[in-house]
Amino acid sequence: MEFEAVIGLEVHAELLTESKIFCSCTTEFGGEPNTHCCPVCLGLPGTLPVLNKKAVEYAIRAGLALNCNIARFSKMDRKNYFYPDLPKAYQISQYDLPLCRDGYVEIETENGVKKIGIIRVHLEEDAGKLIHDEGAGSSLVDYNRTGVPLIEIVSYPDMRTPEEARLYLAKLKSILEYTEVSDCKMQEGSLRVDTNISVRPVGSSAFGTKVELKNLNSFRAVYRALEYEFKRQAEAIKNGEEITQETRRWDENKGITVSMRSKEEAHDYRYFPEPDIVPIVVDDEWIEDIRRNIPELPQQKRERFINDLGLPPYDAGVITSDKALSDFFERCVELYDNPKTISNWVMGEILRAMKDSDIEASNLPVKPEQLVMLQELVDDGTISISIAKRVFDIMFKTGENPDDIVRKEGLAQISDEGALREIVIKTIKNNPKSVEDFLGGKEKAMGFLIGQVMKETKGKANPQMINEIMKEELSKISKN
Ligand SMILES: [Zn+2]
Repeated sequence: MEFEAVIGLEVHAELLTESKIFCSCTTEFGGEPNTHCCPVCLGLPGTLPVLNKKAVEYAIRAGLALNCNIARFSKMDRKNYFYPDLPKAYQISQYDLPLCRDGYVEIETENGVKKIGIIRVHLEEDAGKLIHDEGAGSSLVDYNRTGVPLIEIVSYPDMRTPEEARLYLAKLKSILEYTEVSDCKMQEGSLRVDTNISVRPVGSSAFGTKVELKNLNSFRAVYRALEYEFKRQAEAIKNGEEITQETRRWDENKGITVSMRSKEEAHDYRYFPEPDIVPIVVDDEWIEDIRRNIPELPQQKRERFINDLGLPPYDAGVITSDKALSDFFERCVELYDNPKTISNWVMGEILRAMKDSDIEASNLPVKPEQLVMLQELVDDGTISISIAKRVFDIMFKTGENPDDIVRKEGLAQISDEGALREIVIKTIKNNPKSVEDFLGGKEKAMGFLIGQVMKETKGKANPQMINEIMKEELSKISKN
């Protein structure tokens, strides 16, 4: 029997507002514990929350970019549960009337474009953070993150493989980055993912028992946890075992999922309307205003790169999948009017170096100005393209300017005709067999001789010049 997965995702994204959702405290990441908070975000008695209009605007902007309907009337609710990182013992969220509903995201799978439905996008506040001090056997609480505005994006269970889940997540992240509503830094917790998965025989339309996976803090963790869970559940079904509805967590080190709690212990949140905040009423004019001001989305940018800059669709797709990478590319093109040359650098050396050193596009150690400078050194004949790739590697490691590297490492191309002719003559003298081959009609032998000159000059010889000089010198010999 063949099985397929039924996967849905819940993604929390911190909004990039400067102040928190119900008070004027800063949303800045980090800082000394408990310095970015006040009586309002701690929910102390006698305080009143005031809704940050910017947070509502960002949530609507995200909702529009995700093709949602925006509710003209919605409200905030209290979600009650007791946990030490939640000082009020309730979280202000949205229950039955979320701000955005019924959207979708398109992903490009091996079998073509697939629509992944979005059930809702709602607004809520973030909780604090627990810091477990294992040495002292105690836990500390940092409330700096308390009250940072979040959106929760809940998908339909439309994904059938871990790969589709990964593609959905990547698309969602790039849309949130392009619309500038969240920086989506997973390592700082501004993008957090929970997912649920059930497994059923291919062809069946009934849903299996679903398992929730919590606290997945990287794309890789999402993919691996889903892959593991798919195999685990399929195996259990084959063996006639029953799947328990439960919440499991991903153990990165062991590469397995571990049960956290079963359904019996599931929370009863006792939602009720937040009495201190008036309902959110949104008029058409405001929605249209937000819609008009949405920055260019990845799909639009991709089309523009193809149509206006003449990039191949593949290059355009790769570059626009990452906002920081496409910003880098565009800045280079502003400075250097040959998009394909820049794209070759990005698709080749830059992506390779990013992968090798595990660096994200937002943290590239090479600046657009430096890459353009490097290409100009190739254009004016100072270095060859193969030397340029060596310079790039040094640039990527040290952040130095290319001209400084070329000078320091003595990498400038040798274009001195006299010096090159001397090396050519010496090479001809040292390789009589190849010369004989060439004179006997083996054209390839010249390639070998040129290779020897390149070796001798550590790749710095100007290739066109050696070519010409080599031809001249060889023809002199053949005439004798
Ligand atoms: Zn505050």
